[in-house]
Amino acid sequence: MLDVNHIRKDFPILSRTIYGKPLVYLDNAATSQKPKSVIQSLVDYYESYNSNIHRGVHTLSMEATDRHEEARSKCTRFIGAKEEKSLIMVRNTTEAINLVAQTWGKYNISEGDEILTTHMEHHSNLVPWQKLAKQNGASLKFIELNEDGMLDLSNINKLITERTKLLALTHMSNVLGTINPVKELIEIAHKMGAKVLIDGAQSVPHMKVDVTDMGCDFFAFSGHKMLAPTGIGVLYVKPEILEHMEPFLFGGDMVSQVWDDTATWNDLPWKFEAGTPNIADAIALGVAVDYLRDLGMENIHLHEKELTSYALKAFSELEEDLTLLGPRDVERRGGIMSFHTNKVHPHDLGTFLDHDGIAVRTGHHCAMPLMRSLELPATVRASFYLYNTENEIDKLIASLKSALYYFSNGSH
Ligand code: PMP
Repeated sequence: MLDVNHIRKDFPILSRTIYGKPLVYLDNAATSQKPKSVIQSLVDYYESYNSNIHRGVHTLSMEATDRHEEARSKCTRFIGAKEEKSLIMVRNTTEAINLVAQTWGKYNISEGDEILTTHMEHHSNLVPWQKLAKQNGASLKFIELNEDGMLDLSNINKLITERTKLLALTHMSNVLGTINPVKELIEIAHKMGAKVLIDGAQSVPHMKVDVTDMGCDFFAFSGHKMLAPTGIGVLYVKPEILEHMEPFLFGGDMVSQVWDDTATWNDLPWKFEAGTPNIADAIALGVAVDYLRDLGMENIHLHEKELTSYALKAFSELEEDLTLLGPRDVERRGGIMSFHTNKVHPHDLGTFLDHDGIAVRTGHHCAMPLMRSLELPATVRASFYLYNTENEIDKLIASLKSALYYFSNGSH
């Protein structure tokens, strides 16, 4: 089990106060806080070995190159990939998905083909496919949701056909918390000859992920949701697919030989990493991975499951006033609680909570088609991570109760 009191000491920001109250940070699905070791790794890089990588023969450049590539190896092991060259360092999940759409997608999805996705995707795993479908004359199809906020798979064999070239699906919903049965869906898609991209932005930070066991073809995630800085993320591509993919961006570093009118490409994975990469933040991502591995992803998942059960129970007491979205079974969901009430607009509720020191997210959570299908303009979302406590959930519930009272009676 996690020693949360001890862990919290590693996160300087958690000792902040907001309006004189201790910060209760429940906006982890948007971005996580960073431990001292990650922050210090940025300082160390800039103070001791800041240098451009790959091209240098001097000590600083070699140190920076080694640490950058070491971060890639750490991420490779962390997600159960077999080869380091199958991991491309990108800015974030969004860039990773665009890379797949405009390289593999551009050459493998054509007129009349179908891209199957779901109605719980973040815009990052929808808009790049809309663009590609328009570009190449393909069409988009959707797996709908059932009332519990889980995928309705009753007609999956009709939705995935020989026309389906790609299934693009989130591992865990950033609105509903739903954890999708990705392994099962990958098997079905592969039987029909389709490739599968998994958006792991919400899963990698919170549970053990093994891309080899899962069998996905593409897997994307962002560092900033898993204790690392912003501006660094990872795209995993199955090696046999990556070998045949065209580059995404063109320029320095991604080339082997350049002539006046043509060029040849660098080895994998650098063929996909044009220009000076985000060296410092990649190294810090490696340090974040160390931190998560030391705690153990199973322990982190278990801790969040306990928080989720606790929160589900607490929310059930507010059932008359607040509607909670997503599955009720902790085996099928993560620690993301989205809710709404007809008594208060989500933004007002969010502002009220902020005055109690509680940070939550309000809005459409970059999932407008989902919001539309739920007929909601917005929700409030509280999302947990390894440093959150039951006591913080108590504070959330107490503040929600007083907000509901305030907005229905006009006094605090
Ligand atoms: N997919 C999901 C499920 C997400 O929750 C997010 C971030 N909210 C993204 C993709 C996009 O991540 P990023 O903004 O880091 O590219």
